[in-house]
Amino acid sequence: MRVVLWDTRKLDVAKDFAGGMGIGQFPGNGGILGRVVRHFFKRDTRPVALNFAYLAAIFRKLGHQVEYSLDRVPRGADLYVFNPSLITVALERQAMVQALAETPGCRVFVTGAVANSLAEAFDGVNVTIIKGEPEQLYWKLDEALASTERTVDVGKIKDLDALPFPDWSPFKPRKFRIGFDFSQFPTAFIQQSRGCTLKCNYCPYIILENANRLRSPERIVEEMRAGIKAHGFRSFKFRDPLFGVDRKRVFRLAELIGQLPRKIQFSIESRLDLLKFDVLKALREVGLTSITVGIETPSEETLRRYHRAPIRDDRQRDFILQCRALGIRTVAGFMIGFPEDTEESILNVLRYAKSVNPTFANFNIVTPYPGTEFFQVIKSQIATFDPTQYTVYTPVLKYKNLTPERVSELHAKCFKSYYFRSRWLVTAGPVLWPSLRKFGLGEVEVPAEPLPVHAGPPKPHLGLNVIERPADGAEAEHACETRHHDAA
Ligand code: SF4
Repeated sequence: MRVVLWDTRKLDVAKDFAGGMGIGQFPGNGGILGRVVRHFFKRDTRPVALNFAYLAAIFRKLGHQVEYSLDRVPRGADLYVFNPSLITVALERQAMVQALAETPGCRVFVTGAVANSLAEAFDGVNVTIIKGEPEQLYWKLDEALASTERTVDVGKIKDLDALPFPDWSPFKPRKFRIGFDFSQFPTAFIQQSRGCTLKCNYCPYIILENANRLRSPERIVEEMRAGIKAHGFRSFKFRDPLFGVDRKRVFRLAELIGQLPRKIQFSIESRLDLLKFDVLKALREVGLTSITVGIETPSEETLRRYHRAPIRDDRQRDFILQCRALGIRTVAGFMIGFPEDTEESILNVLRYAKSVNPTFANFNIVTPYPGTEFFQVIKSQIATFDPTQYTVYTPVLKYKNLTPERVSELHAKCFKSYYFRSRWLVTAGPVLWPSLRKFGLGEVEVPAEPLPVHAGPPKPHLGLNVIERPADGAEAEHACETRHHDAA
């Protein structure tokens, strides 16, 4: 069978982010400084979505011919597979119609987060909606092809280690680079785990599952080894929303990464209170260069309203300082544009971002993803249901105290004001360009390990079970008070 994986990079989409819903890019409004910020956002060529690399491997393992097509719709394939993002829904729909018209008898599969949450976007087009995880096609392809139903639910993968390694060869992987995380390229996506046990009600990562599944460190490092050999990957971006739930596995992973034949760089994404100093040190020693975390807003009231548990301010500051002392970049997500936001509350987010001072601050405009609880709760306050606007850089809600234009202006101001200041340059510079440390720049006193963050009674809505194994190997679980990253 000839299989075409259809894709697009139009509209500045990055499909693998926001739980597979995809995000756009900062439009660069707000004059020349805004355009400078946008320039840095645009430099990267992010890898294609990880699920497409898995699907390439899966279809080949099953004996099919796989080709990747960017924006074109080649004729004559037996199966066209789409992984739409929200912002490219219209383009993808158009390509599906074209495939069906030009290749009579072909099948079209729609997979991924949008297939799970917004299947109605493809109403009227003769496609098969694949619900669940697309990689389940490894086991259920025949069933999906045989089905005459509009929707086929393939379910979730029981054992992530049973998947073949992603196959990047159809995607020109030598071009992949993510400059805010790494200085060495090409870059691949990789995963240590899937899912999250927390309950932030706006988060697209938990639409499919509210639990964690983990891969073995041995399989992960084998995958890295294969990617280094086949494509020369020099850096790996872990796409887990919650890296490091199991400390023992993290230390084992660090040990194995340290045994790779060449030094690599890697980045992770997690809740900052999950990553204690000993973990940071162990990972840094074997190539950790960057950590993405969510800080979101200093307003505890806002966080709790949307079921996100706060972390103490001093813990957040200490974490950023610890990372800076170790030379690890921090990429912190902040959210602005809640319906009740005021000019002052948005400027408070900016002030707080500057005071915590991560290497990179990413200001996202609150976006109601279809399929989330937030979307349902806030439905009457959504100004547009046009998915192409859901870039995380476009105001899409009705605001009680602000116009959408004012939200956009304040958003641009956050970016400009954050980066164009001397303290950012002085603190971020030595982390981004380590050679500056030779001149005594960037010296940081490491804050003492903070007090235990798990103290106090568990909060019923938080849902986090941290796995910590005591020395005897017995497993203990306890609830942890926290809030987490921006799910970008
Ligand atoms: S902690 Fe992160 S991944 Fe988990 S629910 Fe919250 S935003 Fe989503």
